[in-house]
Amino acid sequence: SSSTPTSEVDVLIIGAGPAGFMMALWMSRLGIKTRIVDKRTDKVFSGQADGFQARTLEILDSFGIGERVWKESNHLIEVSFWNPDSNGVIKRNGRAPDNISGMSRFTEAVLHQGRMEAFFLDAIAASYPHPADPSGTPLKVERMVLPTSLEVDEAAAEDDDAHPVTVTLRHLTEAEATPTQKLSNLSDGLFRSNLADDDVGAMLAQSKGRADVREEVVKAKYVVGCDGAHSWTRKALGPEYEMKGEMTDFVWGVMDIVPITDFPDVRTRCMIHSASNGSLMIIPRENRLIRMYIQLTEVSTGGRVDRSTITHEMIFKAAQKIISPYKLEYHYCDWWTAYQIGQRVGSHFSKCDRVFLAGDAVHTHSPKAGQGMNVSMSDAYNLGWKIGLVTKKIMPRKILSTYELERKQIANELIEFDHKFSRLFSGRPQKDILDETGVSMEEFSKAFNMSHMFTSGLGVNYSPSALVSKPPEEALLLESDKEVQNEGNPVAQSKLSAATHCKPGMRFPSHQVVEQADARPWTLHHKMASDGRFRLFVFGGDISQAAARERVNALGARLEKGVLARAPRIELSPAANPFAGTARFRLDQPPSVVDVMLVHCAPRGEVELVRDLHAVYHPFDAKLGWDYDKVFADGESYYEGHGHAYEGYGVDSERGAIVVVRPDGYVGLVTELGEENWGEVEKWFEGVLRMA
Ligand code: FAD
Repeated sequence: SSSTPTSEVDVLIIGAGPAGFMMALWMSRLGIKTRIVDKRTDKVFSGQADGFQARTLEILDSFGIGERVWKESNHLIEVSFWNPDSNGVIKRNGRAPDNISGMSRFTEAVLHQGRMEAFFLDAIAASYPHPADPSGTPLKVERMVLPTSLEVDEAAAEDDDAHPVTVTLRHLTEAEATPTQKLSNLSDGLFRSNLADDDVGAMLAQSKGRADVREEVVKAKYVVGCDGAHSWTRKALGPEYEMKGEMTDFVWGVMDIVPITDFPDVRTRCMIHSASNGSLMIIPRENRLIRMYIQLTEVSTGGRVDRSTITHEMIFKAAQKIISPYKLEYHYCDWWTAYQIGQRVGSHFSKCDRVFLAGDAVHTHSPKAGQGMNVSMSDAYNLGWKIGLVTKKIMPRKILSTYELERKQIANELIEFDHKFSRLFSGRPQKDILDETGVSMEEFSKAFNMSHMFTSGLGVNYSPSALVSKPPEEALLLESDKEVQNEGNPVAQSKLSAATHCKPGMRFPSHQVVEQADARPWTLHHKMASDGRFRLFVFGGDISQAAARERVNALGARLEKGVLARAPRIELSPAANPFAGTARFRLDQPPSVVDVMLVHCAPRGEVELVRDLHAVYHPFDAKLGWDYDKVFADGESYYEGHGHAYEGYGVDSERGAIVVVRPDGYVGLVTELGEENWGEVEKWFEGVLRMA
């Protein structure tokens, strides 16, 4: 009606789960006018997802919260495999490391989702006051708020200044927004499990009769649906946004308990296949808790499961049977739930690149490989800076199409992986080699070990686009595959031989280097905060030699007149830059969106930062002087050894290299250091930024 209040916002996020929080965090760091709404009353205090993969921890660390998770979480170091012996009694038949060593500073770690959400709230708050958002209102989750309609004005979709998405929001009462705890007085997660029905309909019906029901209209530039597996946003976009895939007959229970047991491996990650009672996975957690994923063979009878038959008593009995002859009891249960395994992916991840879907809203799968929360956060991590920089008019709108290109590929890979892994884990162990329907335990542990690259999140390799320049051979190879095609054919081309361990489309690895100015060792990820900036790494070689130094300085002069003069500047939040906050202590000018860093391999003592190097490697600010934080040596540190970064990145110390890294830490371009390649770097940025 005409009395309905209407307002404008740049970004509206629907749903405050892992995906929604990640999106909100990006928006707060970039200073984008944003609202985030959630139908529920409160944040998650226990249960749900708990597994943080190495790549997720790296991402959280780039926002300053990785170390907090790392400190409080339990670290999964080892996995043990238990299988039936010839008498059908379970017995340990192998142990293995739970991670690939040397890939990341982090390993898999577990901490419940509620804690993580608290860290997100702190990290969001730390982004204010943001110089780009003079309203000064820190982003807050608006709870008990539910969308009731969504429309996209397609004709205005390509207009940069338009707010083409119109959403009606309804404000609920506490009673309407509180999920009913079903089946028991323990904290159960069935109301969010895929065995439960969507509760949105009921909430709306309840609030409809109310005379004082409050609605408002929001006009947004962008809407991101992070509203989970039952996604209202996805449904609102129409039938062509349906999920594709299948449900299996496998039903699993989940319990978080403090165990009392004589089972010896209860503090390592365990995969237990019993002879005929199904499988059990144990995840050792913080505070003596363990999480158990328990196969419920008795309810896996085909078709849709009647959830009223599932109780925590029956789930626990199933666990006791699988783990026998060992004893298992508990006094304390923190949370429990049950779910039916299915693997489904949405057909489209966006509408007109104005409404986007992220997380469980576009892909669901079994939770045992600990992927859901991680992949959901990674979706939003991929999307957030793109929406942010487009809204700021730093990047053109066409970049937004890379979200679906990149993340749909990952969702498909995830579903394929999960399909294979779930089948192997839910399958009955093979009795002997003639037992064709059984799962061979060799096959299982091989698949498990092979999967680390994928499950850790470190194996992600995005397809070619304006943002990812693959060398011509690789780009051609993918051209046959229509799924990974992108309209913006890459103009710039990478030369992989320049940095053989920096792969365009994959995350830039992290190796230790020593800060030129103060001798402190850092791993380069420490210098790559998620603040919206691209990073241009110059591997300058041995710059104590005149020729190498001149080459690096000539590149500096070219960058100063070229990319840096033409690229937009970006206001940083106080969390990303302490000099962003108060006016007295603020950079005179916001920095370029392209952050140049030099990694050389000269003896550190033979280089003088300001005297020897071009000013782009130590930018000067009228109020704050030189920036001493851009030049690093690949050399011996005083106390922490030699990082061998050139070796780690695959860079030849004579030839050097240039590596361009996107704001989300993925490699965009790799090329050689010589002058004939500088044009390639300029071309790359022209394809991505709105250059002056
Ligand atoms: P969700 O976490 O589902 O968040 C969606 C949010 O949107 C919710 O806060 C919800 O209240 C809100 N919302 C929904 N509809 C609306 C609406 N119409 N309007 C407003 N707000 C709305 N993953 C792991 O990585 N590791 C694990 O160990 C793990 N265990 C799991 C165990 C179970 C039983 C289940 C069901 C999942 C598990 N997952 C696990 C998966 C993980 O929980 C999800 O993948 C992850 O939470 C998805 O994040 P999301 O932000 O996309 O959605």
